[in-house]
Amino acid sequence: MNYVVDFFEGSKEQSDLLGGKGANLAEMTKLKLPVPTGFTITTEACLDYLKKKENMTNELNTEIQQHIHSMEERTNKKFGSAENPLLVSVRSGSKFSMPGMMDTILNLGLNDKTIHGLIKKTGDARFAYDCYRRLLQMFGDVVCGIDKDRFENQLNFYKTKKQYQSDTDMQAQDWQEIVAIYKDIFIEVTHQPFPQDPNEQLVLAVEAVFRSWNNRRAITYRRLHDISDSLGTAVNIQAMVFGNFGSESGTGVAFTRNPATGEKGIFGEFLLNAQGEDVVAGIRTPQPISKLELLMPEVYQEFLRLSHLLEYHYKDMQDIEFTIENRKLYLLQTRNGKRTAKSAFKVCIQLVEEGIISKQEAIQRISPTMITQLLHPVFEPDHLKHAEVFAKGLPASPGAACGTIYFTAERAKQASEKGEKVILIRQETSPEDIEGMVVSEAIVTSRGGMTSHAAVVARGMGVCCVAGCEEIYVDEFLEQATVGEVVLRQGDTISVDGTTGTIYRGSIPYVEGDEWQLLETITKWAKEEANIDVKANAETPTDIKTALKLGAEGIGLARTEHMFFGEKRLFEMRKMILAEETAALMDPLNKLKEFQKEDFHTMFTLLNGKACTIRLLDPPLHEFLPQTEVEINHLAKATQRTPAEIEHRMKELHEQNPMLGHRGCRLAVTTPQIYEMQVAAIIESAIEVAQKEQGITITPEIMIPLIGSQEEMQWLRERLNQTIQKIFTEKNQVISYKIGTMLEIPRACLTAEKIAEVADFFSFGTNDLTQLTYGFSRDDSGKFIGAYQNKKLLKADPFQHIDEEGVGALMKIAVDKIRAYDSSIKIGVCGEVGGDPQSIRFLKKIGVDYISCSPYRVPAAILTIAQEK
Ligand code: ADP
Ligand code: MG
Repeated sequence: MNYVVDFFEGSKEQSDLLGGKGANLAEMTKLKLPVPTGFTITTEACLDYLKKKENMTNELNTEIQQHIHSMEERTNKKFGSAENPLLVSVRSGSKFSMPGMMDTILNLGLNDKTIHGLIKKTGDARFAYDCYRRLLQMFGDVVCGIDKDRFENQLNFYKTKKQYQSDTDMQAQDWQEIVAIYKDIFIEVTHQPFPQDPNEQLVLAVEAVFRSWNNRRAITYRRLHDISDSLGTAVNIQAMVFGNFGSESGTGVAFTRNPATGEKGIFGEFLLNAQGEDVVAGIRTPQPISKLELLMPEVYQEFLRLSHLLEYHYKDMQDIEFTIENRKLYLLQTRNGKRTAKSAFKVCIQLVEEGIISKQEAIQRISPTMITQLLHPVFEPDHLKHAEVFAKGLPASPGAACGTIYFTAERAKQASEKGEKVILIRQETSPEDIEGMVVSEAIVTSRGGMTSHAAVVARGMGVCCVAGCEEIYVDEFLEQATVGEVVLRQGDTISVDGTTGTIYRGSIPYVEGDEWQLLETITKWAKEEANIDVKANAETPTDIKTALKLGAEGIGLARTEHMFFGEKRLFEMRKMILAEETAALMDPLNKLKEFQKEDFHTMFTLLNGKACTIRLLDPPLHEFLPQTEVEINHLAKATQRTPAEIEHRMKELHEQNPMLGHRGCRLAVTTPQIYEMQVAAIIESAIEVAQKEQGITITPEIMIPLIGSQEEMQWLRERLNQTIQKIFTEKNQVISYKIGTMLEIPRACLTAEKIAEVADFFSFGTNDLTQLTYGFSRDDSGKFIGAYQNKKLLKADPFQHIDEEGVGALMKIAVDKIRAYDSSIKIGVCGEVGGDPQSIRFLKKIGVDYISCSPYRVPAAILTIAQEK
């Protein structure tokens, strides 16, 4: 069995066997780049060693000796020679980079004899003793477990004694004394001298690296990052080159593009007269790489050339380690550089423009999380570490925000008008709170799930929101929020992380996410690949504009009830709801119709011919009822009734189970005038806008919610058709339109082929469908879903990720039935899972034609679809 591979034998594809570092050293050697010669002891050798739990086998030892021997031939040096010694580095490296887990030893092969060879060969005793003391410290640390500080302390003590400012003040004599002191530390701690035999040094070092695979830090790191324990680490043995060989030598690291901003051009640092990790260790302050151009222009030019070459070869931004020895450049490592979301986008776009990767490759490199980071602010990670957590809830809408807390929409609005940054905390929000929500930096609720009012509205607006923080006791009356002993009051400052669902006390600095332009390009490319459309759930002008800017193909769900908020509208709505006979109904309805027409005008104009699905009134009416005495009195006056009469009517309207009650199409069965008004508003606006904006065709798609049977649908459809025909006659003009329905009642899914006979299109309302299939109340499931997840009774919140097994099965039945009846009928999805990448993959599989989600989730949805192609 071969356990050792020479650098010139391997390649970058072999990172399983050679580790990432080894595979890339091999690749660079193959490319004939200036890489110091060496070889890799494979991960298999490591696993074999760990399995046997004993010393290194003779076979492996012999193999290593043979490779050392060929290194000697290539370098013209000898391992252990007192004349011209070969020195090597021993570098660990597993398949995935595990920073700081397993260390490196430099200058191995030095001892009391070979040091003279090094001095003789280089004529530089200061340099040679510097190398020796480094070896002692690294070997002591990695192989013998001697605390680094023991060495550091002695060195600092020595420098203070001599009144030296920095390491560069140390002379040959000084380093020689340090070497002696360090050797004493070995005896003191391990009761053994530092091993003088280079072969023994090598074997011990390799074994130590093997064993470090199983040290606690490494195991913890692997758990955290989901890296398998069974990979093992490789060990690279490489001829030393010396960056500490005077002022024409140095060492550094550089990225081929800026890892924070993505800007093109070398970005990095270096130190003159330094070795290995001096650059990152922070003992001396490194210089920016641009300085190298002044100091050694020809080396700088060579580095530029090689970094371009590497980037081109790997087709990605590289993170490169290099060393300069007497003005000669060596490459010691390369890998794909870690970067921020912004940098990732920028680099991808540049690489496509430069013809290095294709658009398709670029799309595959972007993840939905990166989009979130790009669009929404994120807290600065360094500050987050020290922040005090107040509570945790559901990550309902991503982003980061700080502000002072208010417990009512009213107060939040007042404070914000004074220029304060406010955060609204409530038990739960209702349409009433909308004006306070609009001005808030973030919204926090103690009740409600991922599809609660707060969550849906916040996502729609792109405002950060943490919902269902059950541990917070919110007292809206006393205006305080309590978690255990901690009580926050109105005016206190908090920070809300909607991406993780965490709430912190005090304010934490954050970075804005506003890189829309970068996103636009990637979205455009993703659209070219995506094979199903993404539309948006939107109805306000701001939301519609945002959605279109972020790439939506139109509106997949305009919720008309959202148009009845705002003082005047709500007032008319209330008058309508409280009307006891048809006559009293008509006046508020006509006013509402004018409001609706205004809205549809704007909507159709903004959409400029793009598709638009409008859902007729859906929620139970009680959501619109007056809440306070003041409101009741006001309403009583306006309708010439007594407050008692109003309250009586409110009682009549009361329902035990409003979500399963008198809502959606059921309302239209008892009071068809409401839907008739809405449909008239839609059709009249469409005709008017089409007339005004010559050249656009508008085909409104009218969607009836909560249909459970063919009969219901047919009856309503006929009524609405009559209304529409009447308008056509009046206006003497005809336009095309569609009447379809939501699929949100299990019965509708199971009888979908029948409903298909009377519906022009369908759209799954996954929120209600999940609620009704599971029997989990959308508004209350926050109370127990967490416990279900902790006890492993539920893998995920079904309102967050589609429940493929149950709800998904029902959806599949419906799709198949509809397709069997008529394969051309369009089927969409407009629930919240429409914006969740994991769910989108499933929805695509069952064959929906489009999905519709909150505007801010549109780009990630398009990307997911493009990636799945
Ligand atoms: P890490 O994985 O922690 O970066 P490395 O194995 O890359 O560890 O090495 C640590 C440092 O030592 C790096 O700066 C590297 O460039 C340097 N180094 C490693 N091998 C050699 C060598 N043969 N000659 C000179 N410097 C080396
Ligand atoms: Mg390295």
